[in-house]
Amino acid sequence: MLNTLLPLLLLAVLALAVVGAVRRIALWRRGRPSSVPVLTGLMAMPRRYLVDLHHVVARDKVFANTHVATAGGFVAAAALLLVVYLVPLPGSVETVLEVLLLVFSATMFVGARLVAKRRRHPPARLSKGPWMRLPKSLQAFSGSVFLIALANLGLLPEGLISGVIGWALAAVLLVALGLGLAELLLGMTWGGPMKHAFAGALHLAFHRRAERFSTRKSDREGKVHRSTGLKALNLEDETAPLGVATPEDFTWNQRLGFDACVQCGRCEAVCPAFAAGQPLNPKKLIQDMVLGMTGHSDAAYAGSPYPGKAVGEHQGTPSGPIVVEAGGALLDADTLWSCTTCRACVEECPMMIEHVDAIVDMRRFMTLEQGQTPGKGSEVIDNLIATDNPNGYAPAARMHWAADLSLPLMRDLGQADVLLWLGDGAFDMRNQRTLRALVKVLRAAEVDFAVLGDEERDSGDVARRLGDEATFQRLAKANIATLEKYRFQTIVTCDPHSFHVLSNEYGAFGGHYRVRHHSTYIDELMAADRLSLRSWKGGSVTYHDPCYLGRYNGEYEAPRRVLTALGIELNEMQRSGFRSRCCGGGGGAPITDIPGERRIPDMRMQDVAETGAELVAVGCPQCTAMLEGVVDATAQVRDIAELVADALISEDAAGKERAAKPQVVEVSP
Ligand code: SF4
Ligand code: SF4
Repeated sequence: MLNTLLPLLLLAVLALAVVGAVRRIALWRRGRPSSVPVLTGLMAMPRRYLVDLHHVVARDKVFANTHVATAGGFVAAAALLLVVYLVPLPGSVETVLEVLLLVFSATMFVGARLVAKRRRHPPARLSKGPWMRLPKSLQAFSGSVFLIALANLGLLPEGLISGVIGWALAAVLLVALGLGLAELLLGMTWGGPMKHAFAGALHLAFHRRAERFSTRKSDREGKVHRSTGLKALNLEDETAPLGVATPEDFTWNQRLGFDACVQCGRCEAVCPAFAAGQPLNPKKLIQDMVLGMTGHSDAAYAGSPYPGKAVGEHQGTPSGPIVVEAGGALLDADTLWSCTTCRACVEECPMMIEHVDAIVDMRRFMTLEQGQTPGKGSEVIDNLIATDNPNGYAPAARMHWAADLSLPLMRDLGQADVLLWLGDGAFDMRNQRTLRALVKVLRAAEVDFAVLGDEERDSGDVARRLGDEATFQRLAKANIATLEKYRFQTIVTCDPHSFHVLSNEYGAFGGHYRVRHHSTYIDELMAADRLSLRSWKGGSVTYHDPCYLGRYNGEYEAPRRVLTALGIELNEMQRSGFRSRCCGGGGGAPITDIPGERRIPDMRMQDVAETGAELVAVGCPQCTAMLEGVVDATAQVRDIAELVADALISEDAAGKERAAKPQVVEVSP
C-alpha cells in the first residue's frame, strides 16, 4: 500500500503546491514594478542564505543550530523523498538515497524536538496561533519519513510491516506524512506559517537592495555591506506616484519581502517605540501589510498588538487606503509617526525585511499628497521651505555662535582641506558648545578647514524622514550646487544625520563626497599624532552609539578608540554597538511627538544608570538634546569633541611635546 499510495500523495501535494506558488507570485506581482536581475538573483540566493541570512540568525547560537537541523534536514529529506519515490532508480542508488533519507529525517526530527521545547514556553515576541502547531507538523513529517525509510530498507521487524499491523502502520504513516506535507509544503505557497520559507528564499533572490549582500570578492577584501540610504522618488515624472497609499502601491518585491516575515518578533524586541508603549510594533506592521495584500482583518493575528490598540479593529483591502483618518483601515497614522527610523528592526531581521523603507514610503503619501504630518511636522516643513532650516531662523544666524572665532569661510578662500559642515545644531545653544570644542580641536591639530557659513542649508534629513521628499530634494540639490563651487578633500561634521545624507543620499543627485564623522576624523588626527592630550582624570564613562553613525554607517570603533586614547576605560551598556537603543531623536519623532507610556530617552538614560557611569559620551546633537532632556539623570552628557577639547594640552606645551617627537606623520585631510 505504502509504495502505491506514497507517489500519488507526493504528486498531489506537489501539484497543489505549484498552483499555490503561481497564485502567491501573482499576488506579489500586483505591486508596482521593480526591475531586478532575475538570473543573477536566483544564482546568488544560496550564498545570500548561507552567508548573509545565517549571519543574522547565528546571533542566537542555540536557535541557529536548531534552524540548521530543522530547515536543512527538511530541504534534504523532502528532495530525497521526491527523488526516491517519483524517479525510477537502480536498486543500489535507491538504497544509498534511502540511507541518506534516514540521516536527514533523523536530523530534522532532532531539530523539531528543539523547536517543540522552545514553543513550550515561548517568549512574548513570538507569535502563537498556527505557529504553535508547527513543531507537531515538523515531527510528523520527519518521524514518518524516518519510519518509511526504515521500512523500505527492511530494517523494521517483520511483525510491524505485515498483516493488519502492517496495513495500520502504513495508514498511520501516510496520514502523518500527509499532515506534515500539507503544513510544510502546501503551507509554503498557500499562506500557512511556512510561507516564510518560500517567500524568504525568493526575497533573498529579488531583494530591493541587492547591495546589502556579500560576494566572494567583497569577503576577500574585508568589505562590510550596507545599503541604508532611502531610495529617491522621481519627482520629475508628473505621473509617478508620491509614496504609498494602498498595499498595491508597494513594489512587488517589497510585497514579497512582507510575506517572508517569520513572525520571530526580533524586531519587536528591539523597537524603542514599542518598548516605550507607543502604538508601533514593527512585526505587526509587517503582518498588517500582508493582510492588506490579501484583504483581511487583523483578528487572527496571534502576536503582541500595537501598544494601546486592540487586535481585531483593523482591516485592509488590496487596493484600499492603508491609513484612514477616521480609523477602520489597516493602520492608524500614529503608528507610522511613532517610528524613530533607528533601523534596529532592520538590523535584527533574519529575513532582511526593510521596515524603514516601508514606513517612509507611507509617510511620503501622507505628507506629500495629504499634508497630514502631525504635531509640529508641518511647521517644521514650512520653516524648511521658507528659511532652509527647521526652526525658521534667519539663515545668517547660522554663524552667530562663532562671532568671536573668525572662522575661515569657503566663500573667501575657495578651497580648504576640510569643509566643516555645521548642521542645524549651529542654531542650538547646547550644540554650539560642541561646535566650539570641535573648532578648538581642529585648530590644535592645525587642520586647514573652512565653513560654508550662511551658504550652508539644512541637509534635508528631517524633511526626508517626515516624508517630504520634495523639500529634501530641493535642499540636497541646493547644497550640492554650493559644494560644487569649492575645492575640498573631506567634509567633517559632528552631526551623524548630516553625515548619513551627505555620504549615502546625495549620490543619487550627483553629490559624491568623502565624509567623516568628527569622531572618525579626530581618531585619524590622534593616530597621526596631531593632538597632544592629557589623560582622563574623571569618573566612569559609557558611550551611546548614535543610530545614524552606528547602524546606518557601521562606525562603532572610532569613537571608542578616541575615548580609550584619552585614557577612558569604557563601561559599556548592555545594549551597545549594533544593538544600541535609540535615544528617540531620529526620524522626526520628537517633532511628531506621538505619546506613549514612557519616554525613549528616559529608558536610554536608565541603560546608562545601570552601568553606574557618571558620564555618557555621545557623538550627535540629537542624542545630546534627547539625553540631556531627561529629568533626574544620574550621568552627565558630553560630546566626544568636548572631551577631546578639554584634554588638549595648551599650544605651548603641545609645541614642546611635538618638538620632542621629530617624526612627521601625515593624516589624510
Ligand atoms: S526603525 Fe526603530 S522605531 Fe522604527 S520600527 Fe524599526 S525599531 Fe521601531
Ligand atoms: S519582520 Fe523580521 S524580525 Fe520582525 S518578526 Fe518578521 S522576520 Fe522577525
